[in-house]
Amino acid sequence: MTRIFDNIDQQRLRIIGAHQEHSMNDSPIATRLQPETHPRVVPEVLLEALRQRFGSRFSTALVIREQHGRDESSFSVPPPDAVVFAQSTQDVTDVVKLAGQHRVPVIPFGVGTSLEGHLLAVQGGISLDVSRMDQVLSINAEDLTVTVQPGVTRMALNEAVKSTGLFFPIDPGADATIGGMAATRASGTNAVRYGTMRENVLALEVVTAQGQVIRTGTRARKSSAGYDLTRLMVGSEGTLGVITEVTVKLYPLPEAVMAATCTFDSLASAVGSTIEIIQLGVPIARCELLDSNTVRMVNKHSHLTLTEGAMLLMEFHGSPSSVQEQVETVQSIAADHGGQAFEWAATPEERTRLWTARHNAYFAGVQSRPGCKAITTDTCVPISHLADALLDSVTEAQASGLSYFLVGHVGDGNFHMGYLIDPNIPKEREIAEQLNQQLVQRALKLGGTCSGEHGVGLHKMDFLLAETGAGAIAMMRAIKAALDPDNIMNPGKIFSL
Ligand SMILES: Cc1cc2nc3c(=O)[nH]c(=O)nc-3n(C[C@H](O)[C@H](O)[C@H](O)COP(=O)(O)OP(=O)(O)OC[C@H]3O[C@@H](n4cnc5c(N)ncnc54)[C@H](O)[C@@H]3O)c2cc1C
Repeated sequence: MTRIFDNIDQQRLRIIGAHQEHSMNDSPIATRLQPETHPRVVPEVLLEALRQRFGSRFSTALVIREQHGRDESSFSVPPPDAVVFAQSTQDVTDVVKLAGQHRVPVIPFGVGTSLEGHLLAVQGGISLDVSRMDQVLSINAEDLTVTVQPGVTRMALNEAVKSTGLFFPIDPGADATIGGMAATRASGTNAVRYGTMRENVLALEVVTAQGQVIRTGTRARKSSAGYDLTRLMVGSEGTLGVITEVTVKLYPLPEAVMAATCTFDSLASAVGSTIEIIQLGVPIARCELLDSNTVRMVNKHSHLTLTEGAMLLMEFHGSPSSVQEQVETVQSIAADHGGQAFEWAATPEERTRLWTARHNAYFAGVQSRPGCKAITTDTCVPISHLADALLDSVTEAQASGLSYFLVGHVGDGNFHMGYLIDPNIPKEREIAEQLNQQLVQRALKLGGTCSGEHGVGLHKMDFLLAETGAGAIAMMRAIKAALDPDNIMNPGKIFSL
């Protein structure tokens, strides 16, 4: 099996060499427009063993396999060979052990909202759906932690802890599972104040590629005990094991919350305000950007009447006096950049309406062009370079003639362009990927990353190579080979086929 890795290494190293030259001479990063597939043999004896063990929780029905063989990315490959619905850690262990005996891939599945081809069965195998592992196991309000099974969604978690006066802030636009969010190191609109899954996962239970159950971390707020396996698993995209329990931090619901929108004459002014807000250390809870085109799409989709211009959507948390202080500082910064008066979302209902619309901006974009798919970018740059990263990318998108939307967790230096392509028109995909390459290349030159929160999946593998270089990729591959020597855990994602 090391041989498989060795061959891939040599093939990929040639590409890495090319990347290193490219980063010096500014040539585009090589990317493939469609994923390669290398299906493995899935023996009937394995399928029969799974059928016997799981009964109606095992399926080879095409419709079920297709539901599990796609995500929100624009790619399409043949579905997995079978799907198992796990309800316990023992179920997960049994699937991994059985599949491992035949070196058949296992692809953990949350609710399928990932955006980069994470779930595609490029080597066939078993989709292991953990969404029915949806129990909140223990709420430790006095320690501000909660332990859940991986299939609990972020909204279900917040519902479960509501009565404690605490909340879980990480909020990808979709109602993703906590396991999937840990596996993709997700964040969302609140990350500027509360951090991402990287900062908020304290401990995990994981089923390894050998079917062993291990624990990483504890409920203590900090630890310097040994290698940080929790951080290794967070963001591993199902390639190192299956997360079967997650302990995360909770936060007290803020005493005062104010949400507002502010419209600017230009994107540059909105971005300039954001940079200043962050550089001044205002502890803003949410600072999101939409361009006028996207505000129009959101208005239509969510039946709102937001002013159609470059817009910041903001939220302030804290004591009444600290919120007031933050608001005054931000109003003065926005005014200096030509921002119009704040429009307030005063009641909880109005705030919910505003943030639901923001969370649905992706769908508003996709529905603006019936039948289209979105190729979504996810760069994140140091805050002082946000304007350099964002404004040129918008100019390039406008010049391309392709439809797009623009949303950003700009308080973090993270923004998304969604290029809306007709998947049946190869030229459109080519243009979108070219725009994406230029945008990533620019972010890397500015000291940023190709993915702030969506992860690598299939789509950003070449970008990851360009970002980290050969040494780091070799170390990742060595970790993968050590923990999963038969390469059964979600193979073909992050860095290799
Ligand atoms: C409209 C929309 C808005 C979005 N907004 C954001 C955003 O603001 N921020 C953000 O970060 N993301 C965002 N996303 C992306 C997506 O919601 C996240 O990537 C999310 O974390 C995926 O969770 P999931 O439960 O859907 O996982 P899936 O898509 O089912 O799986 C994602 C990956 O995690 C692995 N995985 C899933 N469960 C486990 C497990 N238990 N153990 C090990 N591996 C596992 C899978 O194998 C796969 O590689 C958005 C997506 C959409 C559609």
